[in-house]
Amino acid sequence: MNVTTLPKPPRVGLVSLGCPKNLVDSERIMTKLRAEGYDMSADYAGADVVLVNTCGFLDSAKEESLEAIGEAIADNGRVVVTGCFGKEADVIRQRFPDVLAITGAHEYEQVVAAVHEAAPPVPSPFVDLVPEAGLKLTPRHYSYLKISEGCNHRCAFCIIPHLRGDLVSRRPDAILREAEKLVAAGTRELLVISQDTSAYGVDLRHKGFPLKSGGEVRAHMTDLARELGRLGAWVRLHYVYPYPHVDNVIPLMSEGFVLPYLDIPFQHASPDVLRRMRRPANDAKVLQRVRSWREQVPDIAIRSTFVVGFPGETQEDFAYLLAWLEEARLDRVGAFKFEPVEGAPATSMDQQVAEDVKQERYEAVMALSARISEEKLAAKVGSRIDVIIDAVDAESGGATGRSKADAPEIDGEVHLRDAGGLAPGDIVSARVEDSDEHDLYGVPN
Ligand code: SF4
Repeated sequence: MNVTTLPKPPRVGLVSLGCPKNLVDSERIMTKLRAEGYDMSADYAGADVVLVNTCGFLDSAKEESLEAIGEAIADNGRVVVTGCFGKEADVIRQRFPDVLAITGAHEYEQVVAAVHEAAPPVPSPFVDLVPEAGLKLTPRHYSYLKISEGCNHRCAFCIIPHLRGDLVSRRPDAILREAEKLVAAGTRELLVISQDTSAYGVDLRHKGFPLKSGGEVRAHMTDLARELGRLGAWVRLHYVYPYPHVDNVIPLMSEGFVLPYLDIPFQHASPDVLRRMRRPANDAKVLQRVRSWREQVPDIAIRSTFVVGFPGETQEDFAYLLAWLEEARLDRVGAFKFEPVEGAPATSMDQQVAEDVKQERYEAVMALSARISEEKLAAKVGSRIDVIIDAVDAESGGATGRSKADAPEIDGEVHLRDAGGLAPGDIVSARVEDSDEHDLYGVPN
């Protein structure tokens, strides 16, 4: 049996100087890098690159910034400088010609691009929350918003708790502050990510935090989702486990606070396999709940991923999964063949499934879900939908975007003709004219 060894994630050291605003910038940059799989390094020596977020407010602050850059150059050598003092790039370069890149304050994309260049991200399907394409180029009009780190569960195929530890939630007021800034900078869609979004705030005992506008927000998924929804951008929830309180998010969809979209990584349907996988929220009544969600929000799109060929998965377990998928008629389905990963308990389990059987099962799930997706998309022909534009093609006059049912990179697209005058980030109404297995085709109107 081949066991996959994970590549080591690149490590970033951070020195954050100056005022609280600078600290928020540092927090935002690190949140983005963590979401992309980077690790933090507590010291210069262990870092692949050091980020110095400087202050340039007073001469003494500039001197302190230069000292910090000098120290990082001496101890590590690979240094990216950002922050207010970045405006005076010449002064920095004169003293430290070896600095890799210098950007000004709030230039998040440039800082992240400089870190990518200095220590390229190492995509890994076993640990990443952000799709690989999203790592390279997240356009300004959508942003990933990471709300917690780590996980309290111990799924048998997963090494996240081992790598990242137990769940640590960010404060909801800090998340909202970051989201506000993203929206002010042009984000039209917030993609909420974490290992287990529905467990958000458990470690903070769901306590309330004051909001700057008055009132308070509890560290709880529903409260956070409602507050994010008030910012006016699309809010898309990823990695939600079907705990009972997820039912409370459904009304937020009818009220327009969050998109009618749930990304629930079911991973399997057979109760035996789920038990051996040690999956959380393994609820036998989940199909009933999916039905009830659809009654409340008829256009809800449910996306999920499934693992086939988990150790001990019998032909009966697999037939159960296919029948379940047929009944659940999920909108989007991704499938993976079980892959033993170094350090995951399932790797040493008995009854590993043969590769050709895994492949067969994988193809069967993909074929079934493609058929269901094709039928569901065909039913949308003739309807009007909102589309967020991701790219425009000046030559053909067309544009590519996504409906509320499509997350970037992982779901389908909407291809629009006669879309002149649109720009990425625009949200337009469109009439659906055609469909295929994964995508829709239409025209703005
Ligand atoms: S819920 Fe399971 S699969 Fe997801 S991060 Fe936690 S342990 Fe891993």
